[in-house]
Amino acid sequence: MNRRIDIFRGDITKMQVDAIVNAANTSLLGGGGVDGAIHRAGGPAILEECIKIRNRQGGCKVGEAVITTAGNMPAKYVIHTVGPVWSQSNKQANELLANAYSNSLKLAVENQVETIAFPNISTGIYHFPKDIAAEIAIKTIKEIISKHQQIRQVIFVCFDDENYSIYEQLLSYQCGN
Ligand code: ADP
Repeated sequence: MNRRIDIFRGDITKMQVDAIVNAANTSLLGGGGVDGAIHRAGGPAILEECIKIRNRQGGCKVGEAVITTAGNMPAKYVIHTVGPVWSQSNKQANELLANAYSNSLKLAVENQVETIAFPNISTGIYHFPKDIAAEIAIKTIKEIISKHQQIRQVIFVCFDDENYSIYEQLLSYQCGN
């Protein structure tokens, strides 16, 4: 079955969708985790565009998003967003994580994207609790796609077993995907 919100276990760089989302950092200059994997798979064209954006607007703030080519990957675009670093004292972390998802989708809509794949933003090096992050991700995506029929499919790409089972459980309890 082809659901409007779906999950996939594996590597986001291989996804055949219009846009994949990168969990980048504010420098836009690449890093570890999914960011490193995307730059390696996509090749130097991505970093070249990131540097141009950085020169124009000074990187990307937490919760915001920018768009580049996907270089050598099957997708057309990479939407780079920056999730918050988790800490007990970061009171705005939940809101900033929701912004990262919603601003990525808004940029997708502006660029005629119909299919998009998200990694589990902030749940790696940035240490966001995976269950809370998944709830925020699903709630935010549902809100936005209900207003934009143009988005035909959103795929949550889970790289680790824990995230996959959290998403599987949360989505199976919710009807109407
Ligand atoms: P952040 O700094 O936002 O936490 P990370 O890249 O460290 O970003 O991790 C975000 C999520 O991306 C983690 O759940 C991690 O397991 C996952 N991840 C790492 N590599 C890939 C990949 N190639 N495809 C999809 N997800 C990945």
